[in-house]
Amino acid sequence: MNTFIPDLVIEVTGICNRACIGCYAPNVVSNEDALSLYAKRPELFLTEDSLTSALNELERTPYLTSIRGGEPSIHPHISSLLMAASMQSNHVMLETHGRWLLPKNVVKYKELIRTIRNNNIIVKISFDKMHGMKKEELQQITDFLGWNEIDYRIAITESSLTDFIQTRSLCSWIAEEKIIFQQKAKTEHELVKPMIGTINIRGELKRTVTHKFLQEDTLGEATA
Ligand code: SF4
Repeated sequence: MNTFIPDLVIEVTGICNRACIGCYAPNVVSNEDALSLYAKRPELFLTEDSLTSALNELERTPYLTSIRGGEPSIHPHISSLLMAASMQSNHVMLETHGRWLLPKNVVKYKELIRTIRNNNIIVKISFDKMHGMKKEELQQITDFLGWNEIDYRIAITESSLTDFIQTRSLCSWIAEEKIIFQQKAKTEHELVKPMIGTINIRGELKRTVTHKFLQEDTLGEATA
């Protein structure tokens, strides 16, 4: 079992097509088509130019860069952003709820799959009570990634060791080295802390990930 300590987080969009209870990201929730969202709300998407400028300003090369949202697969130019990040990082992980990798959806994401494979990007899939993915769905996704020789990690974010053990038992075919355990954060201070920082959707380098904890302990639980 691994922990998750990225050097750099890149937030590529402030939109998600799910609304998990306990999500700390201040997302706009929408199921609209990615291109029309991009046309209507461009301020909610990181541009390749902003990302390139921000990466060029970094004082050192990140060992591990994590790409997240919202849901990064919603970004119509996610492949270009992944390539830009890959050129300036030793390793890149794509954090996702993973539904786009289900057999019924994946045909629309050929370009993204190709980019992931060609750039040795690791797909990090959330599998826990909050994200609510069925065991059978995760099996279909891990089979698909295996056939395509794409490396992956399964991130289990739970509040307690008991809950972690219970969720872990549901995905027993996953090798231990592919499991990441994340403690569910209850305050801003418990969120993941990237060593270099977070590039947000405006291309600004910030110390922490974007979150909606306004006052500590007043908004309930959130994920790490
Ligand atoms: S936890 Fe992840 S999948 Fe769920 S709403 Fe938040 S960003 Fe979307």
